[in-house]
Amino acid sequence: MQQLDIESIRRDFPILDREIYNRPLVYLDNAATSQTPRCVVDAIDRMYCHTKANVHRGVHTLSQEATDLQEAARERVRAFINAASTQEIIFTRGTTEAINLVASSMGDLLENGDEIILTAMEHHANIVPWQLLRRRKRILIRVVPVDATGQLDMEAYRSLFNERTRLVSVCHVSNVLGTVNPVKEMIAYAHSLEVPVVVDGAQAISHLKVDVRDLDADFYAFSSHKMYGPSGVGVLYGKKYWLDMIPPYQGGGEMISHVSFEHTTWAELPFKFEAGTPDFVGIAAFRTAIDYMESIGIERIAAHEHDLLEYTTSRMMEIPGMRIFGTAPGKAAVISFLLGNEHHYDTGLLLDKLGIAVRTGHHCAQPLMHALGVEGTVRASFAVYNTREEADRFIDALRRVAAMLGL
Ligand SMILES: *Cc1c(COP(=O)(O)O)cnc(C)c1O
Repeated sequence: MQQLDIESIRRDFPILDREIYNRPLVYLDNAATSQTPRCVVDAIDRMYCHTKANVHRGVHTLSQEATDLQEAARERVRAFINAASTQEIIFTRGTTEAINLVASSMGDLLENGDEIILTAMEHHANIVPWQLLRRRKRILIRVVPVDATGQLDMEAYRSLFNERTRLVSVCHVSNVLGTVNPVKEMIAYAHSLEVPVVVDGAQAISHLKVDVRDLDADFYAFSSHKMYGPSGVGVLYGKKYWLDMIPPYQGGGEMISHVSFEHTTWAELPFKFEAGTPDFVGIAAFRTAIDYMESIGIERIAAHEHDLLEYTTSRMMEIPGMRIFGTAPGKAAVISFLLGNEHHYDTGLLLDKLGIAVRTGHHCAQPLMHALGVEGTVRASFAVYNTREEADRFIDALRRVAAMLGL
């Protein structure tokens, strides 16, 4: 595999020229959002300056062009995840809205006493929507535990199924531990018992090749802003079988075929699930972000991030008092850690003063923090534009913080 020209890639990202407290920014908060290349910003600019019109409604040229851009983006997403049809690609505001859609609409098929399976490493976006459903229907939520390395207990997973199990929802990659869950195996097992599976792909989509048909996922959710695209756009992939079966999530324009006060019929897929005016500018620019990622190649991005992960982790282990959470083999490029007993927030603040952007806190995964026995962690996460030199600056900064703390 050809080495990446990281310096040339870095020039595509204007924000990387920023300085923080007179030091060059080292951006290691990519699991929260990744930065956006110039070509994506240009696509947004171009749309606002040349092609802005509402989609699917107008006969006029601009509306046609805007519609074509949106539908070209849908086809781009379809090909990117190898879905069977663009009817299975629903644009949402993000992963959170995508999972809320499934919980609400699939939830309609559930009955009191039915059970669903989640895992202990879920993001709040894959916990709270199901709890909202639990207020509508008295469902039981069962939780797969996580072991000390940050991997799911697969035996426990299989033992949680019974005749009332109706659904599984699991993250492909943990945003805290970096663990890549064996979702293909989990889906195969659930399907052997005729249980559909929802996959939260927010952390997987920019780090590994996702093929929804190979995984045989029933639903797969992700966000553009974590894959070098604009904010405010996400995708719910759903098998046509289920999307035909479940009711719409929101009502409004776009999602109907015919409306009268007596009876309203739904539009064809995927529009049945796209009420109101979508973020058509963001969606058009999202296509450019996918083109950008593919021009580099997801395998090469993953290999580069993996190199940074290995290098940084091994150097971090030499720092006194370092505690790393999540050591599963083959994990994604996310490092959660604590320095001694120092509060995550203080470590993050000191790192910021040294120009290094990391995330601190519970990372929207409070149940996982509880399982780890901590209140929060510091999290460094990598993207394609990070370098070994930045990793060195991060390590030097950590050493300074550790020294300040007398570790
Ligand atoms: C970021 C993230 C989400 C939520 O994504 P939004 O873009 O905020 O909707 C859900 N799950 C995981 C694993 C995430 O990392």
